Amino acid sequence: MSKLSVSDKKNWVFDLDNTIYPAENDIFVEMNDKICLYIMDLLKIDNEGLFKFKKKYFKDYGTTLDVLIKNYNVDPIDFLNRVHDLDYSVIKYNKDLKNILQKAPNEKYIHTNGIKSHCDKVLDKLEISNLFNDCFDIIEANFIAKPQQKNYDIMQNRFNIDFKNTVFFEDMAKNLVVPKKMGMTTVWIYTEQTKHQYDEYKDYIDYAIDDLVKFLSF
Ligand SMILES: [Mg+2]
Repeated sequence: MSKLSVSDKKNWVFDLDNTIYPAENDIFVEMNDKICLYIMDLLKIDNEGLFKFKKKYFKDYGTTLDVLIKNYNVDPIDFLNRVHDLDYSVIKYNKDLKNILQKAPNEKYIHTNGIKSHCDKVLDKLEISNLFNDCFDIIEANFIAKPQQKNYDIMQNRFNIDFKNTVFFEDMAKNLVVPKKMGMTTVWIYTEQTKHQYDEYKDYIDYAIDDLVKFLSF
């Protein structure tokens, strides 16, 4: 695997969950459980009903929130607050990550389909809040999530950055399609569970890595 040089691109834009901290931290699992419970409670359905719900909407919608807003008139802020009520003690401080980000002279940003308060809590746990210029969340994106083109357009305006001078780090391969088309250098962080997706998305991936800290160690 070739390496990225800090001097290559001015801006580094990171996804938050399962990207700035590794998937094994498991907080995303807890969030996913809360999303499932929210849907089951809202629609008064059981596990089988939930399975049918996912099957019905999975292909045509970017996120669960999108389904709930467009089909069930759900208050997005209520949904987001409830599914982000999480146990942050599972996020582990990572000294090497902090050192690397501290040393790298690049402008650093977070771009998440979550909410800013969640981002703040994660970055606080990692003790790296002060190393980021800004965080762009789903509320600022008018609830239009990645991987929709509009989401990245709003993000670009908000951060006012040149995408050709930007590296985009993300664990969901489908979220790299638009960044690559818009001229960003893309880094995909895969796991044992997701690595089979490589072939489908390889045209949109410049670097496929399984360890962010190792990759950024210069
Ligand atoms: Mg993620």
